[in-house]
Amino acid sequence: MNGTVPLVKSPSRLQDGHGRRFEYLRLSLTDVCNFRCSYCLPDGYRKATGVPSNLTVDEIRRLVSAFAELGLWKVRLTGGEPTLRPEFLEIAAAVSVISGVRKIAVTTNGYRLAERAQSYADAGIDAINISMDSLKPDRFHAITGHDRLDEILRGIDACRAADIRSIKLNSVLLKGLNDDELDDFIAFVIEHDLSLRFIEVMRTNDNPDYFAAHHLAGATVADRLDGLGWQWQTRQAGAGPAIDYANPHGPGRIGIIAPYSKDFCASCNRLRVSATGKLHLCLFGDAGIDLRPLLQWDDQREALVERLQRLVATKAPAHLLHQGNSGATPHLASIGG
Ligand code: SAM
Repeated sequence: MNGTVPLVKSPSRLQDGHGRRFEYLRLSLTDVCNFRCSYCLPDGYRKATGVPSNLTVDEIRRLVSAFAELGLWKVRLTGGEPTLRPEFLEIAAAVSVISGVRKIAVTTNGYRLAERAQSYADAGIDAINISMDSLKPDRFHAITGHDRLDEILRGIDACRAADIRSIKLNSVLLKGLNDDELDDFIAFVIEHDLSLRFIEVMRTNDNPDYFAAHHLAGATVADRLDGLGWQWQTRQAGAGPAIDYANPHGPGRIGIIAPYSKDFCASCNRLRVSATGKLHLCLFGDAGIDLRPLLQWDDQREALVERLQRLVATKAPAHLLHQGNSGATPHLASIGG
């Protein structure tokens, strides 16, 4: 990673009116995804008309530099499928050398990961989250629309060979579709000494019926892990909203992302920017605030920094998912999850 790592980290100056500080940016690189996950884009990606172009590499550099000046140090590249962006490696390399950025992560469906992992590491990526919703090839195919489980498993090995520091798996918990694999996932994590996160399926504007049929509370996983003697880990300062468990008997870690649980938003530490440069203060908020006019020249930095601080201060205390309100979010590929 870059050689400009500060020894002492000062607290982020991105703070809202509820005492939360923001150190983590999820930056979408594209809305396009080649998978057809049944909870997200079951009919595949469809290009909407009249959508502005994606941020350029220069616009991204200006954006992340302003966030980093305010104390944000972790950037996750997401999408859509971020690795489909032709300039993916160029963007990763540009972000990884920004002063103050200490961790650059990517969330991917694992497409072509086996052959590309080394190039990701070379571009400065030091953390990778790979989506994997089933360990059974036919089911993986049914959920994602792609018969690529084997390719993803080879991708995990390639990430290890490339020495990518943090490798995590993401599995969306789906009642009636993969919840019978809970013990298989736990065994897989132990066998491969991996970290996995179970994500509760979230309701978006496009999937209310699917959500009603397949949502399963993360407490199901917590109960199973408790029963197996896994140990709940106290939340570290600056940690996000995941509930983490460690295996006391050996390797493996499991996290649960349960957005419907009490106080989930209290530990929110992340901000989001869409592929076209809209700031989303919440995954389930309104349409987003356009930052692009302030990304055109390097000398707009001061104005951008001020605007970010002012906007972040207005972040709402919590999402309104419990009231059935998913904000303006049609599906998570539109913002990056
Ligand atoms: N294409 C990449 C991938 O598949 O990981 C990155 C984008 S994807 C939107 C990011 C994460 O959001 C994935 O782990 C995906 O499974 C998850 N996701 C998408 N829609 C979701 C939903 N409605 N509820 C919960 N997780 C969802």
